[in-house]
Amino acid sequence: MQSKLIIYLAKLPKDEKVEVRYELDPSALDMEFVDFQYQSKLDIQGFLEKSGALLTFDGAIQAKVKRVCARCLAEEVTGESEEFHLVFDIKDKTELEATNELREVMIFVHPLRFLCKESCKGLCANCGVNLNIESCKCDK
Ligand SMILES: [Zn+2]
Ligand SMILES: [Zn+2]
Repeated sequence: MQSKLIIYLAKLPKDEKVEVRYELDPSALDMEFVDFQYQSKLDIQGFLEKSGALLTFDGAIQAKVKRVCARCLAEEVTGESEEFHLVFDIKDKTELEATNELREVMIFVHPLRFLCKESCKGLCANCGVNLNIESCKCDK
């Protein structure tokens, strides 16, 4: 598993789509938090096309993600897939690192605050009971 996504440009043919697949260590993205963690490697599949001074990278990132509801702290693990379309200027370059660009793709996808459902009632601030599951007598 790689910690950086590096594309070697010299090997790529010109004006031809090449299918690629990369596996990236999620810690490379440096975006795990208490309430957001990757549960798998990042699986990146797509097509590279070198054309003049530009490289186009079309594909999708897949990963298993664990999130924690901001209100009731319930954990949820889901498989996520996000498509991307990136264009790089590769003039005078022999290799290209795309880790940061992929990081931006993933940041864009993930809401800052995750809720298990819109109507989540959360935990009672007083007794800590999960109000989605049971009610408590703290009210009023
Ligand atoms: Zn919740
Ligand atoms: Zn209560």
